[in-house]
Amino acid sequence: VQGFETRGGVHYLQTPGGVVKARAVGIATGGYTSQSLHRELKNRLLPILSNSIVTRKLTDDEIEACGLRTRQVITDTRILRHYYRLLPDNRLQIGSRSAITGRDAPQQKYKDMLVGNMHRKFPALQGVDIDYSWWGWVDVSHDMMPRIHQPDAKETVYYALGYGGNGVMYSAQAGRRLAQWIAGHGQELDLPIFTSKLPYPNVREMVESQAFAPFRRFGQRFLYRWYHLKDEVL
Ligand SMILES: Cc1cc2nc3c(=O)[nH]c(=O)nc-3n(C[C@H](O)[C@H](O)[C@H](O)COP(=O)(O)OP(=O)(O)OC[C@H]3O[C@@H](n4cnc5c(N)ncnc54)[C@H](O)[C@@H]3O)c2cc1C
Repeated sequence: VQGFETRGGVHYLQTPGGVVKARAVGIATGGYTSQSLHRELKNRLLPILSNSIVTRKLTDDEIEACGLRTRQVITDTRILRHYYRLLPDNRLQIGSRSAITGRDAPQQKYKDMLVGNMHRKFPALQGVDIDYSWWGWVDVSHDMMPRIHQPDAKETVYYALGYGGNGVMYSAQAGRRLAQWIAGHGQELDLPIFTSKLPYPNVREMVESQAFAPFRRFGQRFLYRWYHLKDEVL
């Protein structure tokens, strides 16, 4: 959807193949939400790049040498966290943050950084092949909480967004709630994640995010350096 306008209560969605007419629109575009898709979403999400790798199948000895005694999901306590788990077929999956910009994301160094961090955690995995790796955008909201919401009661536009890096399970549940709401049962949903909009960070940052949006990535770059310092040095 490259844009839409609403006339007489009907939404006209512009797509490369033509215009789709709709009575209601549910937005579930995750970290790929463009700034111009809808006025209610401008500057309310910070897309962050996330990176994931999966090793080849590990042997029992390697698993023992890593001290992995559980298949539960694990996270460390860094600000720039790593999250990992032993998959059912004995591969290790581990993920963390990636580059700042999409242009930089395909660079080998971000994969190498994650592989290096895996080696620091599990020295026994030095040299183990990486069978899969991927990266993508996640949709971080400014209070780290998702929202399933109709931002303007006069308009039949709804969204389910803001899962950060935790949306695989949650987005399926949110999709069900979004459909329920579009079907006219929104009044049954009265938790804050249903009743409030995706927030701006705060008044100061709201002004900044409107006026200085192009510079957000500089701020993020600085924050990543600072968090790295706190995680690894201080
Ligand atoms: C590397 C990586 C690792 C992750 N690991 C985990 C994990 O271990 N556990 C977990 O819970 N979550 C994880 N996540 C996050 C999880 O993938 C997302 O939270 C989840 O996929 C969000 O689902 P969604 O349906 O809301 O959006 P998405 O799956 O992002 O789908 C959004 C869709 O909208 C489409 N779209 C965007 N704009 C438009 C438009 N204008 N018109 C039409 N279509 C549009 C996109 O093409 C995309 O297909 C990870 C993400 C990444 C990138």
